[in-house]
Amino acid sequence: MNGDQDLTGQPNGVQPIAAAATAAGRVRELNEDAVLSASPVFAVADGMGGHAAGEVASALALEQLAAFAAEPDMRPEALLAAIEAANRAILLCAEQRPETRGMGTTVSGVCLGEVGGSAHWFVFNVGDSRVYRFAAGHLTQVTTDHSEVEELISAGQISSEQARTHPRRNVVTRSLGTDPAPTPDIWVLPATPSDTFLVCSDGLPLEVDDDEIAEVLALRLPPQDAADRLLSMALAAGGRDNVSVVVVCLPQTDELQPVDVSTAPRRRALGLEG
Ligand code: MG
Repeated sequence: MNGDQDLTGQPNGVQPIAAAATAAGRVRELNEDAVLSASPVFAVADGMGGHAAGEVASALALEQLAAFAAEPDMRPEALLAAIEAANRAILLCAEQRPETRGMGTTVSGVCLGEVGGSAHWFVFNVGDSRVYRFAAGHLTQVTTDHSEVEELISAGQISSEQARTHPRRNVVTRSLGTDPAPTPDIWVLPATPSDTFLVCSDGLPLEVDDDEIAEVLALRLPPQDAADRLLSMALAAGGRDNVSVVVVCLPQTDELQPVDVSTAPRRRALGLEG
């Protein structure tokens, strides 16, 4: 611990502002999604498994990330360890409670941490929930879906429009709750005050296309208003799946100066392997 860090371990005490919204939708009885807004970690998990086991898996995953959010160690390696812990927690629970056997969950999100003495976002993903970044008027999907339809799109066999209605659009190729543990994707992006991140489950892009999402984020509404509006749009368009959104941005200030590197925590390992 040192004087340049606040209690959440964020450089210069920069606090993201964020808000979440989630709903079962208009077709499904249960909401097996879960959301986490525990600065500096923001995430969505979309659980799967019969008899309500999906909501056990998504809750377990975000519990582990909430515990990570309370730690001072905000490095990519520590984030990967937390995701691995989430995988183990799900497997252990499935062993102890046979009715939850086979459960799993996606997990996607952003975490504000530090690399080389300055603030960076770590974007992470396992499965087909998504992280979008809205910057300079443009929306980009940062994460790549781990799904069968994404593989078909990459192979040029179907279009993204066809993927939306494809019979196997729900089949994910990576999820938490598997042995061996899935490899999470992780991106490290410099933090700038102008970026807005949107973390969402697949129930949002199923109903709302990227242009419509971009229009809402361009309004620069307070995060709760943006999250509520995106959720309402997904419900109005059909709400065929559980829908979850977390909107995250940084305060519009000049405070994102590099911290004093002589006292900043060092990255103990440069490689991402534990
Ligand atoms: Mg879903």
